[in-house]
Amino acid sequence: MRRSLLTTVLAGLLSSMPAFAADKPVAGSELVAYAQPVIAFTHATIVDGSGGKAKKDQTLLVEKGRIVALDKASRVKIPDGATIIDARDKTLLPGFVMVHEHMFYPAGGAEYNEMSYSFPRLYLAGGATTMRTAGSMMPYADINVRDAIARGDSIGPDMDVTGPYLNGPGLPIPAVHSLTGVEDAERTVNYWADESVTSYKAYMQITRPELQRVIDVAHHRGSKVTAHLCSVTYREAVDMGIDNLEHGFFVSTDFVKDKQPDTCPKNAAVMESLASVDPASPEVKSLMRDMIDHHVALTSTLTVFETMAAGRPKAPEGALSLMLPEVRQSYEATWRRMQDQRATRISRETYRKLAGMEKQYADAGGLLLAGTDPTGYGGVVPGFSSKREVELLVESGFSFEQAIKIATYNGAKYLGRDKDVGTLAVGKRADIAVIDGDPLRDTGAMEHMPLVFKNGVGYDTQKIFAAMQGTVGLH
Ligand SMILES: [Zn+2]
Repeated sequence: MRRSLLTTVLAGLLSSMPAFAADKPVAGSELVAYAQPVIAFTHATIVDGSGGKAKKDQTLLVEKGRIVALDKASRVKIPDGATIIDARDKTLLPGFVMVHEHMFYPAGGAEYNEMSYSFPRLYLAGGATTMRTAGSMMPYADINVRDAIARGDSIGPDMDVTGPYLNGPGLPIPAVHSLTGVEDAERTVNYWADESVTSYKAYMQITRPELQRVIDVAHHRGSKVTAHLCSVTYREAVDMGIDNLEHGFFVSTDFVKDKQPDTCPKNAAVMESLASVDPASPEVKSLMRDMIDHHVALTSTLTVFETMAAGRPKAPEGALSLMLPEVRQSYEATWRRMQDQRATRISRETYRKLAGMEKQYADAGGLLLAGTDPTGYGGVVPGFSSKREVELLVESGFSFEQAIKIATYNGAKYLGRDKDVGTLAVGKRADIAVIDGDPLRDTGAMEHMPLVFKNGVGYDTQKIFAAMQGTVGLH
């Protein structure tokens, strides 16, 4: 009864809205603001994701989900019947391609709840149109959500799904399997490859032989491997042929004195080594050189480390209102505790230094990617986190255009999707984040993102946020 009523309402909405794929209803159509076949954004400022300077007074023309023209406004002929969006005071960015996302959220202790319902919608509302998960607690849920989005039955970013965490014994999270050796590592990777997972994440307590087997088998299956390391150093993983390392240099154990092979040092020892490491030292430079020579991408996740340092802002009210009330309470209490330097995991100075090392890596020619990692104690909320990551990259010294490139083109390149997404260019899919105002002058303007287009369909982000109140932490 309820279902048929809903279907009737949706059908009513759709018939009043010209959708370009008329034979198939647009999923989440109650959240759609634009689905016309021809849309022209006129007189916009364009930050195209290539890293090049922003261009003013541009017109971008979309036809059936693709960008078909992008040039000075005076040079673009707008077809009769096009829907025109006056973008005079707007800035258009490519949809974000974020590579350290999750479909789960911390529920206290070592428990994580799957957010199959809220997260895909919120990621989209925050400008992400493509994402890779970086470790899964419920791989089948992630796979099914990915497939529902790909079929057009649900809304959210296109997803590259990473299998369950590949970790050895010692992690107190009940949802995570402990590898028992290289045979188990091989079996696990093959199993999830057969289940259509396309990416792998190694985790803190994996051993060198297990990681080597994971990399070899995953590569054989045509997938890439990333890792949040601890027992294995960055340099060891680079020499094994890993594709990507997570969390900038925030989790590197390369600088721990007396580091024992295949053993994760105590957290205090790791933090101490990072607090004293000199970015200009030969050991840092040679590690970066080794990573760059081996084409290892590095993922920046400043958003999650910001929550662990004192003196950093609390999550914005918009993000707090998305949380289940109990979750919000717990987050706010922990955030208050973190304002005492002695309680923090990372000092302000170490945060700034390590963020600067990510820029140093990119400046030296390394491929820097962006992710947000909505874990920690819960202050990183999809819908807000991708924008915040860009702001933090700018704070670390990147120009706005460079920061956008890291959050768009670089991720697309790493995922092998750059022919289709990652920049605003003729022939690419119309994945567009629309900003009210000028984020080049004030990065905070990023917070005003009323519309996000994916494949030419424009979603009303305020409607998505309104519909998702109180859902983060619940489902
Ligand atoms: Zn993570």
